[in-house]
Amino acid sequence: MDKNWSEMNKEMQALLSKEVTFADAVGKLIQLRNSLFEQITQIVNAYPQEAFSRMPFAGAEGYHSKTLAYSIWHIFRIEDIVAHEMIAEDQQILFAQGFDRSVGSPIITTGNELAGDEIAAFSGKLDIRELYRYALEVKQSTEQILLRLSWPDLKRKFGEEMVGKLKRSGCVSEDENAAWLIDYWCGKDVRGLIKMPFSRHWIMHIEAMQRIKNRLCKLARKGVDPVAYCGLSCSHCFLGEWCGSCRTAYNTCSFATVSPDGICPNVKCCMEKGIDGCYECDGLEACEKGFYIPSNDGADAAKAQALYIRKHGKKEFLKVHDRLHEKYDFSKTQEILGQDYRDGLRILEET
Ligand code: SF4
Ligand code: SF4
Repeated sequence: MDKNWSEMNKEMQALLSKEVTFADAVGKLIQLRNSLFEQITQIVNAYPQEAFSRMPFAGAEGYHSKTLAYSIWHIFRIEDIVAHEMIAEDQQILFAQGFDRSVGSPIITTGNELAGDEIAAFSGKLDIRELYRYALEVKQSTEQILLRLSWPDLKRKFGEEMVGKLKRSGCVSEDENAAWLIDYWCGKDVRGLIKMPFSRHWIMHIEAMQRIKNRLCKLARKGVDPVAYCGLSCSHCFLGEWCGSCRTAYNTCSFATVSPDGICPNVKCCMEKGIDGCYECDGLEACEKGFYIPSNDGADAAKAQALYIRKHGKKEFLKVHDRLHEKYDFSKTQEILGQDYRDGLRILEET
């Protein structure tokens, strides 16, 4: 488990054990959830639609065997049911805000009953933007419920009446892989629910989402030219677990994600010029586009690498990158190549 999330979860659980620290526990829980939800936001903003229904670990044991879309649906269906049917006893966000129609899901259940190809087929039907909006609404409404809870509420238990209500809701499948959820939830008090569906359950599934997206990026880069249009090496990039290269649809390079059309200005310009990369451009030294904008502290380091490719070719460039990483410990190339492309080129040539 991610160390930060695990620590925050432990702190939250400790704070939740005493009345005097109960408000701090809720604060810590919301902080943990914000950090986790940020991962979902970045994934939804970064990847193409097809990424959300792919199963790069199909058949494996564990949550990473699902899809990105399933993971989001499952986390927030469970939370919606628990927060609204059980704790607040009001209407679930799925129905109250019409997400049962707009997300496009063929089911209203938690999805536990789905297996193998059914998960991929289900995922392919979802409108990911609407799914994200649903997740965000559920998150926020749960946090409002949490903030309204008082210390005695934590001991509240759920009896047979709640079991019957949940069964009648049709939100949990009768399939043996899903039906156990109702007894599991109703066997806990509110404190127990906070410790699982609202926190630990998120961590487990969001960590699985990270594994899925890392794998998808790796698969996207397979067989693709590892030299980025701007002259950086995707094979050595510190963003490698997030970015599947600017030569694929899995491009999450910062200049791509901040561009309105999602295409890095250097990529766009090279394509318009019909060239393989900025290293083939006569205007490279003076260029201030995209990655080379002077306010980017990595501009000159990228230019130095593009100039190196122009002089020595891509093969030599990838070799010099290997040597650079053997010699120095760094994540961004500007840490070694500095802020002047002439110095950067010299350092590369001397490595
Ligand atoms: S951020 Fe740029 S260099 Fe890094 S992997 Fe993505 S395209 Fe390649
Ligand atoms: S003008 Fe700049 S962005 Fe365009 S190809 Fe040349 S170096 Fe690259």
